[in-house]
Amino acid sequence: MDYKNITIAGSGVLGYQVAFQVATHGFKVTVYDINDDVLEKAKQKFDVLSAAYKEDLGTTDEELAKTFENLSYTSNLEEAMKDADLMIESVPENPEIKTEFYTKLGKVSPEKTIFATNSSTMIPSQFAEATGRPEKFLALHFANSIWKNNTAEIMGHAGTDPKVFDDVVEFAKAIGMLALPLTKEQPGYIINSILVPFFNSATDLLINGVADPHTIDKTWMKATGSPNGPFAMLDVVGLTTMYNVTQMAAQKTKDPLKIKKAQYIKENFIDQNKLGVSTGEGFYKY
Ligand code: NAD
Repeated sequence: MDYKNITIAGSGVLGYQVAFQVATHGFKVTVYDINDDVLEKAKQKFDVLSAAYKEDLGTTDEELAKTFENLSYTSNLEEAMKDADLMIESVPENPEIKTEFYTKLGKVSPEKTIFATNSSTMIPSQFAEATGRPEKFLALHFANSIWKNNTAEIMGHAGTDPKVFDDVVEFAKAIGMLALPLTKEQPGYIINSILVPFFNSATDLLINGVADPHTIDKTWMKATGSPNGPFAMLDVVGLTTMYNVTQMAAQKTKDPLKIKKAQYIKENFIDQNKLGVSTGEGFYKY
Protein backbone atom coordinates (compact mmCIF):
# COMPACT_ATOMS: atom_id res chain seq x y z
CA MET A 1 0.00 0.00 0.00
CA ASP A 2 1.66 3.23 -1.11
CA TYR A 3 -1.21 5.70 -0.73
CA LYS A 4 -0.29 9.33 0.02
CA ASN A 5 -3.21 11.46 -1.13
CA ILE A 6 -6.66 10.67 0.17
CA THR A 7 -9.86 12.42 -0.91
CA ILE A 8 -12.86 12.41 1.40
CA ALA A 9 -16.15 13.03 -0.41
CA GLY A 10 -18.93 14.33 1.85
CA SER A 11 -18.03 16.20 5.04
CA GLY A 12 -21.20 15.43 7.08
CA VAL A 13 -21.54 13.46 10.33
CA LEU A 14 -19.13 10.71 9.28
CA GLY A 15 -17.10 12.27 6.47
CA TYR A 16 -15.46 15.01 8.55
CA GLN A 17 -14.48 12.44 11.20
CA VAL A 18 -12.88 10.20 8.56
CA ALA A 19 -11.02 13.20 7.09
CA PHE A 20 -9.58 14.19 10.48
CA GLN A 21 -8.62 10.61 11.43
CA VAL A 22 -6.79 10.12 8.12
CA ALA A 23 -5.03 13.51 8.36
CA THR A 24 -3.93 12.77 11.96
CA HIS A 25 -2.12 9.72 10.62
CA GLY A 26 0.06 11.70 8.23
CA PHE A 27 -1.82 11.39 4.92
CA LYS A 28 -2.57 14.42 2.74
CA VAL A 29 -6.35 14.82 2.80
CA THR A 30 -8.57 16.75 0.39
CA VAL A 31 -12.09 17.27 1.70
CA TYR A 32 -14.71 17.56 -1.06
CA ASP A 33 -18.34 18.63 -0.62
CA ILE A 34 -21.06 20.17 -2.77
CA ASN A 35 -20.31 23.82 -1.93
CA ASP A 36 -17.99 26.09 0.04
CA ASP A 37 -20.56 26.87 2.76
CA VAL A 38 -20.77 23.18 3.71
CA LEU A 39 -16.96 22.98 3.72
CA GLU A 40 -16.79 26.01 5.98
CA LYS A 41 -19.07 24.20 8.47
CA ALA A 42 -16.77 21.16 8.34
CA LYS A 43 -13.75 23.35 9.17
CA GLN A 44 -15.54 24.65 12.25
CA LYS A 45 -16.36 21.10 13.37
CA PHE A 46 -12.64 20.19 13.17
CA ASP A 47 -11.96 22.57 16.07
CA VAL A 48 -14.46 20.70 18.27
CA LEU A 49 -13.03 17.39 17.13
CA SER A 50 -9.52 18.54 18.13
CA ALA A 51 -10.73 18.88 21.73
CA ALA A 52 -12.10 15.31 21.64
CA TYR A 53 -8.76 13.96 20.31
CA LYS A 54 -6.91 15.77 23.10
CA GLU A 55 -9.25 14.54 25.81
CA ASP A 56 -9.83 10.97 24.62
CA LEU A 57 -6.48 10.15 23.01
CA GLY A 58 -4.05 12.66 24.50
CA THR A 59 -3.23 14.09 21.05
CA THR A 60 -0.75 16.98 21.43
CA ASP A 61 -1.02 20.53 20.02
CA GLU A 62 1.94 19.76 17.74
CA GLU A 63 0.20 16.66 16.35
CA LEU A 64 -2.99 18.65 15.83
CA ALA A 65 -1.09 21.43 14.01
CA LYS A 66 0.33 18.79 11.62
CA THR A 67 -3.17 17.37 11.14
CA PHE A 68 -4.48 20.79 10.06
CA GLU A 69 -1.51 21.18 7.67
CA ASN A 70 -2.55 17.91 6.02
CA LEU A 71 -6.12 19.11 5.36
CA SER A 72 -7.25 21.00 2.26
CA TYR A 73 -10.72 21.71 0.90
CA THR A 74 -12.47 22.07 -2.44
CA SER A 75 -15.96 21.98 -3.91
CA ASN A 76 -14.55 21.20 -7.37
CA LEU A 77 -14.68 17.44 -7.94
CA GLU A 78 -12.02 17.35 -10.65
CA GLU A 79 -9.66 19.37 -8.46
CA ALA A 80 -10.44 17.10 -5.48
CA MET A 81 -9.53 13.98 -7.43
CA LYS A 82 -6.53 15.19 -9.42
CA ASP A 83 -3.85 13.15 -7.61
CA ALA A 84 -5.96 10.95 -5.31
CA ASP A 85 -4.68 7.46 -4.50
CA LEU A 86 -7.83 6.64 -2.56
CA MET A 87 -11.26 8.30 -2.37
CA ILE A 88 -13.49 7.53 0.62
CA GLU A 89 -17.14 8.42 0.00
CA SER A 90 -19.52 9.53 2.78
CA VAL A 91 -22.27 11.19 0.72
CA PRO A 92 -25.92 10.77 1.85
CA GLU A 93 -27.34 7.27 2.29
CA ASN A 94 -29.47 7.54 -0.85
CA PRO A 95 -28.95 5.21 -3.82
CA GLU A 96 -29.76 7.87 -6.46
CA ILE A 97 -27.31 10.39 -4.97
CA LYS A 98 -24.58 7.75 -4.68
CA THR A 99 -25.11 6.40 -8.23
CA GLU A 100 -24.97 9.91 -9.69
CA PHE A 101 -21.89 10.70 -7.62
CA TYR A 102 -20.00 7.57 -8.76
CA THR A 103 -20.94 8.11 -12.39
CA LYS A 104 -19.42 11.63 -12.30
CA LEU A 105 -16.49 10.54 -10.15
CA GLY A 106 -15.45 7.72 -12.47
CA LYS A 107 -15.16 10.18 -15.36
CA VAL A 108 -12.98 12.80 -13.62
CA SER A 109 -10.68 10.56 -11.54
CA PRO A 110 -7.21 9.35 -12.49
CA GLU A 111 -7.01 5.70 -13.45
CA LYS A 112 -5.01 4.83 -10.31
CA THR A 113 -7.64 6.03 -7.80
CA ILE A 114 -9.28 3.41 -5.58
CA PHE A 115 -12.89 4.17 -4.56
CA ALA A 116 -14.29 3.12 -1.16
CA THR A 117 -17.85 3.63 0.08
CA ASN A 118 -18.71 4.15 3.73
CA SER A 119 -22.38 3.25 3.14
CA SER A 120 -23.98 1.62 6.19
CA THR A 121 -26.87 -0.19 4.53
CA MET A 122 -25.96 -0.62 0.85
CA ILE A 123 -23.51 -3.04 -0.73
CA PRO A 124 -20.68 -2.26 -3.20
CA SER A 125 -22.16 -4.32 -6.06
CA GLN A 126 -25.03 -1.78 -6.17
CA PHE A 127 -22.61 0.91 -7.45
CA ALA A 128 -19.74 -1.12 -8.95
CA GLU A 129 -20.85 -0.57 -12.53
CA ALA A 130 -21.49 3.17 -12.05
CA THR A 131 -17.88 3.67 -10.88
CA GLY A 132 -16.54 2.54 -14.26
CA ARG A 133 -13.76 0.70 -12.34
CA PRO A 134 -15.46 -2.18 -10.46
CA GLU A 135 -12.14 -3.90 -9.69
CA LYS A 136 -10.95 -0.80 -7.81
CA PHE A 137 -14.13 -0.41 -5.75
CA LEU A 138 -15.11 -1.75 -2.32
CA ALA A 139 -16.61 -0.71 1.03
CA LEU A 140 -14.65 0.72 3.94
CA HIS A 141 -17.16 1.17 6.74
CA PHE A 142 -16.45 3.18 9.88
CA ALA A 143 -18.41 3.66 13.10
CA ASN A 144 -19.49 7.01 14.53
CA SER A 145 -16.88 8.56 16.89
CA ILE A 146 -14.25 6.92 14.69
CA TRP A 147 -11.28 8.06 16.85
CA LYS A 148 -12.46 5.89 19.78
CA ASN A 149 -14.91 3.41 18.18
CA ASN A 150 -12.16 2.55 15.73
CA THR A 151 -13.58 -0.33 13.71
CA ALA A 152 -13.14 -0.48 9.93
CA GLU A 153 -15.12 -3.18 8.14
CA ILE A 154 -13.65 -3.86 4.70
CA MET A 155 -16.00 -5.51 2.24
CA GLY A 156 -15.47 -6.08 -1.48
CA HIS A 157 -17.93 -7.25 -4.11
CA ALA A 158 -17.31 -10.28 -6.32
CA GLY A 159 -15.30 -8.19 -8.82
CA THR A 160 -13.00 -6.35 -6.39
CA ASP A 161 -9.30 -6.97 -7.11
CA PRO A 162 -7.85 -8.91 -4.11
CA LYS A 163 -4.74 -6.67 -4.17
CA VAL A 164 -6.94 -3.58 -3.83
CA PHE A 165 -8.76 -5.26 -0.93
CA ASP A 166 -5.49 -6.11 0.85
CA ASP A 167 -4.14 -2.58 0.32
CA VAL A 168 -7.27 -1.06 1.88
CA VAL A 169 -6.92 -3.43 4.86
CA GLU A 170 -3.34 -2.11 5.27
CA PHE A 171 -4.55 1.47 4.90
CA ALA A 172 -7.20 0.94 7.60
CA LYS A 173 -4.48 -0.25 9.99
CA ALA A 174 -2.28 2.71 9.02
CA ILE A 175 -4.98 5.17 10.13
CA GLY A 176 -5.36 3.55 13.54
CA MET A 177 -8.33 1.31 12.84
CA LEU A 178 -9.03 -2.24 13.89
CA ALA A 179 -9.27 -3.68 10.36
CA LEU A 180 -12.10 -6.20 10.02
CA PRO A 181 -12.06 -7.90 6.60
CA LEU A 182 -15.28 -9.57 5.38
CA THR A 183 -14.93 -12.43 2.91
CA LYS A 184 -18.36 -11.96 1.33
CA GLU A 185 -20.82 -9.13 0.63
CA GLN A 186 -23.34 -8.75 3.42
CA PRO A 187 -25.89 -5.93 3.87
CA GLY A 188 -25.24 -4.44 7.33
CA TYR A 189 -21.69 -5.86 7.42
CA ILE A 190 -20.88 -7.73 10.66
CA ILE A 191 -21.96 -5.16 13.24
CA ASN A 192 -25.45 -4.34 11.97
CA SER A 193 -26.15 -7.97 10.98
CA ILE A 194 -25.87 -8.76 14.70
CA LEU A 195 -27.25 -5.55 16.21
CA VAL A 196 -30.44 -5.15 14.16
CA PRO A 197 -31.93 -8.60 15.03
CA PHE A 198 -30.74 -8.11 18.64
CA PHE A 199 -32.61 -4.80 18.94
CA ASN A 200 -35.64 -6.27 17.17
CA SER A 201 -35.84 -9.22 19.57
CA ALA A 202 -35.58 -6.92 22.60
CA THR A 203 -38.25 -4.51 21.36
CA ASP A 204 -40.55 -7.42 20.37
CA LEU A 205 -40.42 -8.60 24.01
CA LEU A 206 -41.40 -5.10 25.13
CA ILE A 207 -44.21 -4.59 22.59
CA ASN A 208 -45.62 -8.08 23.29
CA GLY A 209 -45.79 -7.16 27.01
CA VAL A 210 -43.35 -9.89 28.09
CA ALA A 211 -41.17 -7.62 30.27
CA ASP A 212 -40.24 -3.95 30.77
CA PRO A 213 -37.00 -2.48 29.30
CA HIS A 214 -35.11 -2.47 32.60
CA THR A 215 -35.88 -6.14 33.28
CA ILE A 216 -34.85 -7.08 29.74
CA ASP A 217 -31.57 -5.13 30.08
CA LYS A 218 -30.84 -6.61 33.54
CA THR A 219 -31.40 -10.13 32.19
CA TRP A 220 -28.99 -9.58 29.29
CA MET A 221 -26.32 -7.90 31.42
CA LYS A 222 -26.33 -10.38 34.29
CA ALA A 223 -26.59 -13.50 32.13
CA THR A 224 -23.87 -12.52 29.65
CA GLY A 225 -21.63 -10.18 31.69
CA SER A 226 -22.22 -7.35 29.19
CA PRO A 227 -21.92 -3.78 30.53
CA ASN A 228 -25.14 -2.65 28.76
CA GLY A 229 -28.44 -4.13 27.72
CA PRO A 230 -30.26 -3.52 24.39
CA PHE A 231 -32.36 -0.56 25.62
CA ALA A 232 -29.39 1.32 27.09
CA MET A 233 -27.63 0.72 23.76
CA LEU A 234 -30.66 2.01 21.85
CA ASP A 235 -30.52 5.22 23.90
CA VAL A 236 -26.98 5.74 22.53
CA VAL A 237 -27.97 4.96 18.91
CA GLY A 238 -30.90 7.37 19.32
CA LEU A 239 -34.64 6.79 19.20
CA THR A 240 -34.95 8.75 15.92
CA THR A 241 -32.85 6.19 14.05
CA MET A 242 -34.74 3.38 15.74
CA TYR A 243 -38.06 4.96 14.74
CA ASN A 244 -36.97 5.54 11.11
CA VAL A 245 -35.82 1.94 10.70
CA THR A 246 -38.96 0.52 12.37
CA GLN A 247 -41.28 2.78 10.42
CA MET A 248 -39.67 1.78 7.11
CA ALA A 249 -39.96 -1.93 8.01
CA ALA A 250 -43.63 -1.42 9.02
CA GLN A 251 -44.47 0.30 5.73
CA LYS A 252 -42.67 -2.35 3.68
CA THR A 253 -44.01 -5.47 5.40
CA LYS A 254 -47.39 -4.24 6.80
CA ASP A 255 -46.61 -6.59 9.70
CA PRO A 256 -49.03 -5.65 12.60
CA LEU A 257 -46.29 -6.08 15.25
CA LYS A 258 -43.92 -3.73 13.36
CA ILE A 259 -46.75 -1.17 12.89
CA LYS A 260 -47.53 -1.35 16.62
CA LYS A 261 -43.85 -0.95 17.44
CA ALA A 262 -43.44 2.14 15.23
CA GLN A 263 -46.56 3.71 16.83
CA TYR A 264 -45.28 2.92 20.32
CA ILE A 265 -41.90 4.58 19.68
CA LYS A 266 -43.55 7.62 18.10
CA GLU A 267 -46.06 8.20 20.92
CA ASN A 268 -43.81 7.40 23.88
CA PHE A 269 -40.50 8.81 22.68
CA ILE A 270 -40.42 10.88 19.46
CA ASP A 271 -43.50 13.03 20.27
CA GLN A 272 -42.16 13.65 23.79
CA ASN A 273 -38.63 14.52 22.57
CA LYS A 274 -37.21 11.58 24.52
CA LEU A 275 -34.64 10.74 21.88
CA GLY A 276 -32.08 8.98 24.08
CA VAL A 277 -28.76 10.18 25.51
CA SER A 278 -28.70 13.23 23.18
CA THR A 279 -31.83 14.78 24.80
CA GLY A 280 -31.23 13.50 28.34
CA GLU A 281 -33.95 10.85 28.28
CA GLY A 282 -34.94 7.75 26.34
CA PHE A 283 -35.53 4.38 27.97
CA TYR A 284 -33.38 5.81 30.81
CA LYS A 285 -32.76 9.31 32.23
CA TYR A 286 -29.25 10.84 31.83
P1 NAD B 1 -24.67 13.44 6.30
O1 NAD B 1 -25.97 13.73 5.69
O2 NAD B 1 -24.34 13.96 7.65
O3 NAD B 1 -23.49 13.94 5.31
C1 NAD B 1 -23.53 13.82 3.94
C2 NAD B 1 -22.60 14.86 3.31
O4 NAD B 1 -22.55 14.63 1.91
C3 NAD B 1 -23.07 16.31 3.52
O5 NAD B 1 -21.97 17.10 3.93
C4 NAD B 1 -23.56 16.72 2.13
O6 NAD B 1 -23.39 18.13 1.86
C5 NAD B 1 -22.68 15.87 1.24
N1 NAD B 1 -23.22 15.65 -0.10
C6 NAD B 1 -24.49 15.61 -0.51
N2 NAD B 1 -24.54 15.33 -1.83
C7 NAD B 1 -23.27 15.20 -2.24
C8 NAD B 1 -22.65 14.92 -3.47
N3 NAD B 1 -23.37 14.72 -4.55
N4 NAD B 1 -21.30 14.88 -3.51
C9 NAD B 1 -20.56 15.07 -2.41
N5 NAD B 1 -21.09 15.33 -1.21
C10 NAD B 1 -22.42 15.39 -1.13
O7 NAD B 1 -24.52 11.85 6.27
P2 NAD B 1 -23.60 10.89 7.19
O8 NAD B 1 -24.33 10.49 8.40
O9 NAD B 1 -22.24 11.48 7.29
O10 NAD B 1 -23.57 9.60 6.25
C11 NAD B 1 -22.77 9.59 5.07
C12 NAD B 1 -22.47 8.16 4.73
O11 NAD B 1 -21.77 7.55 5.82
C13 NAD B 1 -23.72 7.30 4.51
O12 NAD B 1 -23.49 6.40 3.44
C14 NAD B 1 -23.89 6.57 5.83
O13 NAD B 1 -24.52 5.32 5.69
C15 NAD B 1 -22.44 6.38 6.23
N6 NAD B 1 -22.24 6.17 7.67
C16 NAD B 1 -22.86 6.98 8.58
C17 NAD B 1 -22.69 6.74 9.95
C18 NAD B 1 -23.34 7.63 10.99
O14 NAD B 1 -23.31 7.27 12.18
N7 NAD B 1 -23.88 8.78 10.62
C19 NAD B 1 -21.89 5.66 10.37
C20 NAD B 1 -21.25 4.86 9.40
C21 NAD B 1 -21.43 5.14 8.04
